[in-house]
Amino acid sequence: MLKGGLVVVGQHIAASGPLDELRQRYPEAPIVHKGKALTPPVVNAHTHLDLSTVPYFRGPYTEFIQHVIDHRMKRTPEATQQGLEALRALGVGGFGDIAYQPEVVEWLLEHCALPGVVYLEVINRNPTEAEGIASWVARRLSEWRGRNSQLRVGISPHTPYNVSPALLKKLVEIARLEGFPLQMHVAESPEETELMTQGRGPLQALPERYGFPPYQALPGLTPVRYLAELGVLGPHLTVVHGVQVDEEEVEMLAQSGTLVVACPRSNEALACGQMPWDWYLKHRLEPALGTDSQSSSPDLDVRNEALFLWGRVDPRVLVRAATRSGYRVLGLETPRITRGTPVSQVQSW
Ligand SMILES: [Zn+2]
Repeated sequence: MLKGGLVVVGQHIAASGPLDELRQRYPEAPIVHKGKALTPPVVNAHTHLDLSTVPYFRGPYTEFIQHVIDHRMKRTPEATQQGLEALRALGVGGFGDIAYQPEVVEWLLEHCALPGVVYLEVINRNPTEAEGIASWVARRLSEWRGRNSQLRVGISPHTPYNVSPALLKKLVEIARLEGFPLQMHVAESPEETELMTQGRGPLQALPERYGFPPYQALPGLTPVRYLAELGVLGPHLTVVHGVQVDEEEVEMLAQSGTLVVACPRSNEALACGQMPWDWYLKHRLEPALGTDSQSSSPDLDVRNEALFLWGRVDPRVLVRAATRSGYRVLGLETPRITRGTPVSQVQSW
C-alpha cells in the first residue's frame, strides 16, 4: 500500500502527500511512524452514552435486550457524563447519541461541548396513543431546538417492531416538516426479522415477561421492506446496523438516500452477524461507524471498529466510514487536513 505522510513544523501541518515525495522535499526531516492512518478527528455516529455504567454483555440479542431492560434505572445523566468524558478523551470530532430519558437530552444540551446530534428514543406500540406521543415529542424537540447548544436534536424510533406504524408515520412527518434527523435500529438481529416476518421467536416473550403491552399484529415484511412500505426511508433517516438484509434491500436503502451506520463489534458480541459491506459498496452506499453502547462494545473508539474489519473491508473505505461518512450522518462538514491545520486536529490510528 502507498505510504503517506505529513510534514509538521512547530504545531502545524506544512505539507502532506506520498512519503517518498515528502522525503525528497524535506530530506533533513526525521520520520516518526504513526501507525495505519492519519485522519481528521473521527466520528462515533451511534452511541448510547446513558448505558455507560451498564456492564458489558456478550450473548444473543434478545438476552441483551433483557439485560438493558433490567438495568434501565442506570440510564442517567451521571452515566451519560461518564460516556461523554470517554468520548472527549478520545478526541472525537462529533457523535450521534440515543437518549432514553428526556433528562439525558436536557443534560447533554446543557453540558456537551462536542458537536453532534442527540436523538430522543421513542418506544410505544399502542396505536391509540400515537397522536398524543407524537405531539409531545414535537413540543419537546421544538423547545430543545431553541437552546444554545453544540448539539442538534433528533428523534429515534427505537426499532420497527417497538413503535406502532401510526406513531412511526407521525414521527417521520414531524422530522420531515421540522428538519429533525431520525436514527433507528433496523435489521440488526435474526430475532428482529423472525418477529417481523413471522410474529414469533425469542423477542415475542419479552412483553409478557416484563408486563409491557404486547406487540401489535406485525407486518409480515422484513424490517427494511416494512419501512419502505410505510414511506419511512429517505435522506432524513439514518439506519443503524442494516445487517440482516438481502441485496434488494441494500439497493432500496441506497436508492432512497437513507444513511447507514455499522457497529461491527456490537453485532459480533450479540451474535447478529456482519453487515454485507460488499453489497453496500456495490450500490454506492458507504456506511458510517458507531460503537453502540459500552454494554455491547468494549470501548467508544470507532477506530477499533475499523480495525476489527481491517483486512475484510478496504481500509480506505473504513477510514472514510470513521470520518467523512460519520460527519455526513451528523450533518457536519468534514474537516480537511491541509497546510496550516493544527497538528492537534490530526488523529493517528
Ligand atoms: Zn444502539
